[in-house]
Amino acid sequence: MLSRYSRQVVYNRIGEKGQKTLLDSHAVIIGVGALGTVIANNLARAGVGKLTIIDRDFVELSNLQRQTLFTEEDVKNNLPKAEAAVRHLKEINSEIQLEAVVADFNATNAEKLIRDVDIILDGTDNFSTRFLINDVALKHKKPWVYGGAVADTGMVMNIIPGVTPCFRCLIQDPPVSGHTQTCDTVGVLNSTTGIIGNIQAVEAIKILLKSEAVLKGVLTINIWQTEFDKFEIEQDKKCPACQQGKYEFLNNRTPATTLLCGQNSIQVLPQQNRDISLPEMANRLQKLGEVEYNRFLLRFKTDQYTITVFPDGRAIVSGTENPGKARSLYAQYIGN
Ligand SMILES: [Zn+2]
Repeated sequence: MLSRYSRQVVYNRIGEKGQKTLLDSHAVIIGVGALGTVIANNLARAGVGKLTIIDRDFVELSNLQRQTLFTEEDVKNNLPKAEAAVRHLKEINSEIQLEAVVADFNATNAEKLIRDVDIILDGTDNFSTRFLINDVALKHKKPWVYGGAVADTGMVMNIIPGVTPCFRCLIQDPPVSGHTQTCDTVGVLNSTTGIIGNIQAVEAIKILLKSEAVLKGVLTINIWQTEFDKFEIEQDKKCPACQQGKYEFLNNRTPATTLLCGQNSIQVLPQQNRDISLPEMANRLQKLGEVEYNRFLLRFKTDQYTITVFPDGRAIVSGTENPGKARSLYAQYIGN
């Protein structure tokens, strides 16, 4: 049974005991895009026994440049990223448990989604979710691995509650949007996300095995200049999260709309949880525009807008960056 992991079992820092620990471990990957696909691919092949994969988005053609688990078929089939990732991972390793969660990871569901996991992997592309992960991880004493990548630069940091400084010791508050470089404005090389995702995956394995070799401090890379650096950071004695136990992002009510990174799209959350019948909705919307749907989502095109609706009532409105416009399109076509 361990034979498929033989190359890892003979590696003296893992061995048979380490492999069994990995098989008994549960990791959650939040966001399965450029970093998340690399992390999920490695952890599935390495035999981490249970992987939960959370993502709110669907696969698009422009993802394929760097999101290594996806194919053109996934784009054609309008698959949510979490679902597509799990389908491919099952072909890679059918002996581990894989769970797809097509949802927005936010303050209303964060605690439930991480309760049973041993480690949290950051595959997100935005600061507000990372601050939320930091809060929920500290509150429930779960280690998490931060990773970020833009253009030719990237960063990795391990946050181990009670042992290391936390993410808010590194960055006090989320940067004001529009003031940070994003993949949208400066692009990203697939080698950047590949390297950062690979390092996050091996840090996760070291943390799960309680290795003393875990990365301490922050790793930074610039692959165009071929520079790799590490720097130490201190615990911030006034840190609201790890020093005062104030979980401001976890206790914050989740905003009803979110601008999605680099997509000219807005995510709209329903006012309460809904259970939408996609075939019925398709029937109703057919008179008003172009509709297609599958088991996971419904896509409706009207004028310059495309609205993608999920069965829980969540929607992604493409063709606008105006939250008010997105809400009103939602009210008009999906209803409240
Ligand atoms: Zn802190």
